[in-house]
Amino acid sequence: MRSDEADREVIRLCRHASRIVAVAKRGIDTPIDLPLITCRLMKNELITYTQGIHAFDTGYLRPQLAAVHLIVHNRRAAFIDTGTYATLPHALAVLDSLGLTPDAVDYVMLTHIHLDHAGGAGVMMGAFPNAQLVVHPRGARHMSEPSKLMAGVEAVYGKQRARQLYGELRPIAAERIVEAHEGAVINLAGRELLCLDTPGHARHHIAIFDTQSKGVFTGDTFGIAYRELHVGGRPFLFPTTTPSQFDPAALRSSIGRILALQPKAAYLTHFGLLPEPQRHAAALMQRLDAFVNIAEDAARKVGDGNTAADELQALIAPPLRAFLIAEARAHGVSLSDDELDTLLGMDVDLNAQGLALWAAAG
Ligand SMILES: [Zn+2]
Repeated sequence: MRSDEADREVIRLCRHASRIVAVAKRGIDTPIDLPLITCRLMKNELITYTQGIHAFDTGYLRPQLAAVHLIVHNRRAAFIDTGTYATLPHALAVLDSLGLTPDAVDYVMLTHIHLDHAGGAGVMMGAFPNAQLVVHPRGARHMSEPSKLMAGVEAVYGKQRARQLYGELRPIAAERIVEAHEGAVINLAGRELLCLDTPGHARHHIAIFDTQSKGVFTGDTFGIAYRELHVGGRPFLFPTTTPSQFDPAALRSSIGRILALQPKAAYLTHFGLLPEPQRHAAALMQRLDAFVNIAEDAARKVGDGNTAADELQALIAPPLRAFLIAEARAHGVSLSDDELDTLLGMDVDLNAQGLALWAAAG
């Protein structure tokens, strides 16, 4: 897409956004009790947590799969993760519903550059004239020159599907990119957001600790907890080991670093608030160990030598699926196997693929 075409696309999306705002304003507030704090869910749109922290559903692939978070402080805003290009209208609608304009956005922060988190960064930066992009140093170049990143995604999904899912990645001017090195502090109108280098899921991953609320935005480092698998308010948390940089030792260490902050809440991209994350860490670590054991068992079965990752993946996926379904059942999830396959099928496939690549390299 040429840049003038891309600009027209943004304008079209903005028009669409104003219709979404109208829908959101008709929404019904529904209070949801959570152990730590109370959130209010505005129908189809904005989830408001505490101390200026909000979330909304990107709508990526299915409802409640991927969230974008937003911190508003002294009427300045920082988005954390972006969803894909298709998320921009939702982001504009959310700003409008908060009485903010696009020029109130100071930062677009990426936990990492997998495209369900970062695919919308280019169009968002185009729409938010005052924003700086905050990203791990390993991700910075891919945001200013996204062709290699897109080529990698096209290799996985095929060109047509990749374009359908992620559109055209728009490059971001290098001078608008802030590299979030370990310990970097981002100042949002006086509110300090601490960036931690948290490899394990990906080497280009950061976690963002909000020093005011003591909440931590964990991207994919602290696992996934789909809302449909909550039982009596208890989340079902499991690790994500998607390709191609899964590293279990690094992931354990990153989870430990997040816990050392003694966060009051974790905000997961998949999906939303996890109160008192330390209460769920043991289950997350045990499931991570189980994933790794499944991969190591598969590697032992095929023996040494030049094992193809796809051969390993085919061996890993069935026991991984069985393990997750058994764990969900033990957690009290009463969905049918078919419903669980619908919810977890993509994760089983991608996690098996990531585990296979790790095991094949080991
Ligand atoms: Zn990811």
